[in-house]
Amino acid sequence: TDAGQTTEKLPADPAVIAPERDLMSKFDGLIAERQALIDTGVTDPFAIVMEKVKSPTEAVINGKDTILLGTYNYMGMTFDPDVIQAGKDALDQFGSGTNGSRMLNGTFRDHMDVEEALREFYGVTGAIVFSTGYMANLGMISTLAGKGEYVILDADSHASIYDGCQQGNAEIVRFRHNSVEDLDKRLGRLPKEPGKLVVLEGVYSMLGDIAPLKEMVAVAKKHGAMVLSDEAHSMGFYGPNGRGVYEEQGCEGDVDFIVGTFSKSVGTVGGFCVSNHPKFEAIRLACRPYIFTASLPPSVVATAAASIRKLRYAHNKRQHLWENARKLHGGLTAMGFKLGTEKPDSAIIAVILEDQEQAVTMWQALLHGGLYVNMARPPATPAGTYLLRCSLCAEHTTEQIDAILGMFKAAGQAVGVIR
Ligand code: PMP
Repeated sequence: TDAGQTTEKLPADPAVIAPERDLMSKFDGLIAERQALIDTGVTDPFAIVMEKVKSPTEAVINGKDTILLGTYNYMGMTFDPDVIQAGKDALDQFGSGTNGSRMLNGTFRDHMDVEEALREFYGVTGAIVFSTGYMANLGMISTLAGKGEYVILDADSHASIYDGCQQGNAEIVRFRHNSVEDLDKRLGRLPKEPGKLVVLEGVYSMLGDIAPLKEMVAVAKKHGAMVLSDEAHSMGFYGPNGRGVYEEQGCEGDVDFIVGTFSKSVGTVGGFCVSNHPKFEAIRLACRPYIFTASLPPSVVATAAASIRKLRYAHNKRQHLWENARKLHGGLTAMGFKLGTEKPDSAIIAVILEDQEQAVTMWQALLHGGLYVNMARPPATPAGTYLLRCSLCAEHTTEQIDAILGMFKAAGQAVGVIR
């Protein structure tokens, strides 16, 4: 047969035609680096398991009661009884999942309701919910700025913003972190005609510093650019209504798009963009990370809606979160730790260490003492820094902050970071 003849012509050794390339070999460097870290005898900072979660601020890790100071649970909403009840009710009434895209069968009553809750919270006409904050940035940036247009972004932008740029077809221009002058200079060099999107963040999550949004937005407008601000780390506790840094700095009228997430202050998972643009709804028709994925489970959007409605009036929590940030920042500064910001600008307080070894040793000493913080390192961090990132929660008690300061003192002295 013809088939038989073809087989005879094949060389005996297929490797002659196409020697197999192991696509996994590119990870050898990473595997070796991780192994070297584990061989030093430390607990792997990137393989922590929460065996039990007792409250927004306490968990059991390695069998030990541990204070959590490394979660994005800024407003402590994860155990709010109304939030939990809303999730249970939706689970009972609508089942465990939607089995489809928002565009087809995946829009349930509670997806509409959470978008209504967002419009109320932000005082805007438009709200679109995505499956994560990562996808909100991916989708909004790649959809807003197309071929021949420009995205201008801060060099320290979150990975999801960078990935949004890669997913789209626009030209990408970076400016020096938080530099109004550099933003102005770079916008000034671009051709006047094409559309431009300036992407900013209210709070930068590695060092916990905030953007001079008012000045930056003014510069963007001067050059005819639209502005998107990612307010992931500010929702709930900046500005009179807790909308974010852009509200606190009084630039509500000039920011065209706000991106946010349910995974931080809201206390569940999901992402969103809100806007007053009259054509905003068109995003639903064109945005691939909105269309080509399943929508969030009804229980998730129901918890998000309940949480957002409570966040609006969470004035006491807001106040206590800021008290906690001031107390921790002041205490760590007094002990001699080097921090990411001079003042307590946000709920994130980054302790800067010399190198990986010092950071991991200190991280482990804290964990053994009963405190979990985030260990962060390049490439996630700016300027090659090694950080222990502390993120505060409105539910941390004053006594817990005292205990945390005590643990930092003991670990810092034992490791030789402070005297
Ligand atoms: N933007 C910023 C600034 C973030 O820090 C994060 C997550 N840490 C995201 C977006 C993505 O949010 P999500 O966890 O909802 O994907």
